[in-house]
Amino acid sequence: MLRERTTTSMQADALSVIDRSTQDVPEDIARPEASTDWLRLLKYNELEEWQKDNEFIHGWYRAPLYSFKYCFLSWFRWHNETVNIWTHFLPSVFFAVFLVTHSSMSSDSFVNQLEEKQIIGLFVFSAWFCLFLSALFHTVIAHSRKIASIYSRLDFCGITLLIMGSFIPWIYYNFYCMPQSQLSYISCLSILGLFTMVFTQWNRFSTPEYRVVRACLFIALAMSSMIPIFHACARVGVVNAWEECQLKWIVIMAMSYLFGTYLYATQLPEIKLPGKFDLIGCSHNIFHVFVVGGVMSHLVGVTNLRDLRQAIGSNCTVTHDL
Ligand SMILES: [Zn+2]
Repeated sequence: MLRERTTTSMQADALSVIDRSTQDVPEDIARPEASTDWLRLLKYNELEEWQKDNEFIHGWYRAPLYSFKYCFLSWFRWHNETVNIWTHFLPSVFFAVFLVTHSSMSSDSFVNQLEEKQIIGLFVFSAWFCLFLSALFHTVIAHSRKIASIYSRLDFCGITLLIMGSFIPWIYYNFYCMPQSQLSYISCLSILGLFTMVFTQWNRFSTPEYRVVRACLFIALAMSSMIPIFHACARVGVVNAWEECQLKWIVIMAMSYLFGTYLYATQLPEIKLPGKFDLIGCSHNIFHVFVVGGVMSHLVGVTNLRDLRQAIGSNCTVTHDL
């Protein structure tokens, strides 16, 4: 009995030593053999704690890969991040191409070529950056706890930059003849965006318990842009703003983002039918599609504003100052 207890206690001590020594080893080199296991798919209850995010997705999880090479090779096989990766990677290619073609457009399309190329370029870059980082995040989420945590913060930075980058050209064109309001709104949005970026770097922000807080924070940042939108509507009237300020595309974009974020926060539809949307059709997949829809709508609105300004020229006499 005593011997049994002693043996058990020695085993426990040995295990705790092994446990401590494993903790001392950097995570990425603690389990190199795992990378040879890159084709293995797991169920939710087989995942390590750091991999658990959505209990309503039951299967098709990649095993921890501890290798960027295997993370990227996994682009070409089915698992529960395949749709998330491709729904943001392909549109990111579109925005990269658009950025290049827009930068090489002739001066005929602009009133102030350099300034407008920079302002619209910032938006297109932020869209590319956000979508590309998102595809990257969903690729390396199976790497290791440390890498997943680093890239989830980069993903949040991308979302924040996209919200800022989207509204800056809209404010620029709609307050073209009101430089003071233009500068004030752009400065406020930039400060709020920087604050959001810092806040999203907080460790607990990326945990599942903060899913709703994340959704609310990004919506709050986007809602701060309502002030210049109300200002523009009050200045020209809602009916005129529909075309003149491209309000119609702002409304489509807002509805797209809000609906996508609502699904993201509520985990619909998988919460109703757990395990049925593991590969395709889960809330995150739909959220991605609506984010792309929102960005595309905004791109149409911004390019229309550019064309409207180009048609008016630098003339400010036709504006409705408030
Ligand atoms: Zn995502």
